[in-house]
Amino acid sequence: RFSKALKSIARNQELKAYIQNSKELFPILMKGANRFVAGETRREGIERVIKLYNKGYQVSLEFIGENTTSEEECMDAKNEFIELIKDLGHKQMKATVSFDLSHIGMMISDSVAFTNLEELAKVAHQHNIQLMISMEESQKTDTILSLYKRIAKSFSNVGITLQVHLERSSMDLNDLLKAPGRIRLVKGAYQEPEGIYIPRSEELNKRYIEFVSMCVERNQPLSIATHDENLLTELKAKGILYRPNVEVEMLDGVRPDLLRSLKEDGIQAKVYVTYGSEWYLYVVHRIAEYPPNIYTFLSDVIGQ
Ligand code: FAD
Repeated sequence: RFSKALKSIARNQELKAYIQNSKELFPILMKGANRFVAGETRREGIERVIKLYNKGYQVSLEFIGENTTSEEECMDAKNEFIELIKDLGHKQMKATVSFDLSHIGMMISDSVAFTNLEELAKVAHQHNIQLMISMEESQKTDTILSLYKRIAKSFSNVGITLQVHLERSSMDLNDLLKAPGRIRLVKGAYQEPEGIYIPRSEELNKRYIEFVSMCVERNQPLSIATHDENLLTELKAKGILYRPNVEVEMLDGVRPDLLRSLKEDGIQAKVYVTYGSEWYLYVVHRIAEYPPNIYTFLSDVIGQ
């Protein structure tokens, strides 16, 4: 309930505008947010990933945004992603660019989203960049999967995120294994209606391992995107984390100690970095999914 309340407060447009326009409050909150978000600009995002890349991490970068309903904002977002892909390509980094389809047109129509997706995929292919589509709440799953399957026919540099907690995902995984793209397995971040998902539990972790095994058996490029130390310890003991097509991916600022130790063990470790003026909503999501983060956030604010 805390998580739901926090997210709905964060979506309040007036509060959001107030915080973003407040000359006093904004810089203070931004300092607390900085653990989770690189900054507001593409330059800050790229600076953060270069530092990580030079330390031996793989990197994934997202320009934060979702549920964009105006054509102009979708175009702006698509153009920002194009510039991001080109900039990363020019740095000769084999990076990943992540995004929500609802940020680039899916709220307007499937065809706007597909046209933009196709353009991103072409530019990404030219610049040796991988694209990774995020998975949103369950009302959008069918549309996201169908757009992915269409693009996957022409572009193997596009991958898809799958939420292990949704009941339907075992069927979806079988389908996704027919396409060549990378699969990113996440437990799932959205509050879903009762009966269609499995809550955090041993059962969910067992399912996560089954999904990982299915991907590994087919040698599917795989991102194991979790901060769950027990789960990772088990997968490491099975030798799965050391396979060439497998990487462990974590959100920037969440369990960096754990990711570093995996990297030092010779496991491919990827950091998911974000930037953009919508940082505020992103940080609230991180606090909502793990409330102790509020203390980290506040101590970063006070510590400045
Ligand atoms: P949990 O069981 O939630 O947590 C296990 C342990 O990890 C916790 O006890 C805690 O110690 C630690 N932990 C977890 N979260 C945090 C946190 N925020 N701060 C500090 N510690 C924490 N979800 C989607 O629905 N769609 C997506 O497209 C999507 N993309 C993602 C991409 C990446 C790279 C990652 C890492 C996650 C993504 N998620 C996405 C979020 C995901 O679904 C989970 O909500 C999130 O990863 C937390 O689950 P967990 O697997 O870490 O395990």
